[in-house]
Formats: sequence, structure tokens, C-alpha cells
Amino acid sequence: MSETTPTILPIPIFKDNIVWLLESDPGHAVLFDPGDCDPVIEALQQQHRIPTHILITHHHHDHIDGVLPLARHFGAKIVGHTLDAGRLPPLDIALKDGDSLQLGPWMCTVMATPGHTSGHVVYRIHDALMTGDTLFSLGCGRLFEGTPEQMWTSLQKIREWTGIRRLFPAHEYTLLNLGFVARYDPDNPHLGAMREWLFQQTDLGLPTLPTTLERECQCNPFLRADDVDFGRQLGLTGKSAVEVFAHIRTMRNQF
Ligand code: ZN
Ligand code: FE
Repeated sequence: MSETTPTILPIPIFKDNIVWLLESDPGHAVLFDPGDCDPVIEALQQQHRIPTHILITHHHHDHIDGVLPLARHFGAKIVGHTLDAGRLPPLDIALKDGDSLQLGPWMCTVMATPGHTSGHVVYRIHDALMTGDTLFSLGCGRLFEGTPEQMWTSLQKIREWTGIRRLFPAHEYTLLNLGFVARYDPDNPHLGAMREWLFQQTDLGLPTLPTTLERECQCNPFLRADDVDFGRQLGLTGKSAVEVFAHIRTMRNQF
């Protein structure tokens, strides 16, 4: 691994989506999940960068609607999961689980994370993981096309991927999720520090993302479904991690 880490900047779009811009080569960029076009063009112009690649985590409109116009405008290559090629914009580069792609100086590796959708993938660049709608800060994606078992497996794979430090979700839901966590995990010793940091960021008008895998492992209830004490606290003593995960997901849906 090289000593420097990639610079990845947020472009907020819509109410709570974030398009992430990876600084690849000088003058170039890589975009993740551009659900819109104009604000992204504006950000690129400000930074004097042209996108060479556009990477897609999954097929939902808020992640892909800007892809084709941006690709046409800049001649960027569209990259996504082979499995979802039928419902993504036309892919120039179709990747499957475990495949890699060179982006400027960075090697990018794909991992399939079914759960939110059946074809969802995450992208790793050095210490950074672009998590799309699989993992949010203090939350995870809704199970539109997957089972709790699939999503729990996907989250475990993320948790166990050595060398991941920063997480870049596609939505800023952190404060919303904080209310849920504060209610169901009030005695978590790490939550105070996280809350303080979150309010510091929002007071300054700054995004609460990226987050870190360390912080999420401490505070994100969906990554703690196999924590026996947490399960007991939820009244689920003796239940499997998948059952605890499913229970937390249902509670969150109803929150
Ligand atoms: Zn989605
Ligand atoms: Fe989304």
C-alpha cells in the first residue's frame, strides 16, 4: 500500500444523497453514484477536473440518473456490476465480485453486497470503501431485494475486510439514525463521543461523512447484531446474529 490515501470529496445532491468525487490523476476525477447531473458538472468545473470513470453501486434512480448525461458530456466510462447490466445505464466496463480496475494511481476492487438490492456492489480504493446504500453511518440500507441473512453476510464481509478505514455512504442519514440508536442502545459507551462529533460537524455545516469503520463497529447497531450483550439488551437472548439483525432492521423500519 502507498503511504498517501486518496482524496474523496462530497457533492451533495437532492435532499440527502452524496455523489463522491475521487481525485485520481491531476485534472481527472472518478465519480460514484451521480444521481443528478448539473450540481456535479458545477463541482467538476470548480475543481478543474474531468471525470474518466463513473462507478455505480446499484440501479436506484437517485444513484444513476446523472450517469448517462455526464458520461456523454465528458466521455467518461460507465462502470457497474455485470449482474445488474440489464437495469443499469449501458456499461463500458462490467465487473463482477472480486474484480479490480485501475483508476489513476489507485487500484479499485469490487465486492458484491446483496441486501439492499440483489446486484449492489461496494468499491474499495486503498483504505476507502464506497458503500452506496449497503452501509450508512449508524444505519444500513433497507432490504428491498434481499434477505436479512444476505445483508448481514454483506455487512460482515465489509467489517472483516482488512485495511478498510474510511466509509463513504451514498446518503447523509446520520442524525436521523442517531435518534434510533440513542433510543435502542442508550448505554453504549462510544455513543457520547460520536454524538459530540456529529453535532460539531453539523454546527459547522459540514457533512458527517465519511465515517470510519472503527466508529461504525462501535456505534452502528447493524454491525453489532452478533454482540451478545447488545442482543440481550434488546430482549433477544439466545437468538442468532441474523435474527437480531432482522429484528433491528424491522424496528428501524417502524421508527
Ligand atoms: Zn438505493
Ligand atoms: Fe439511495
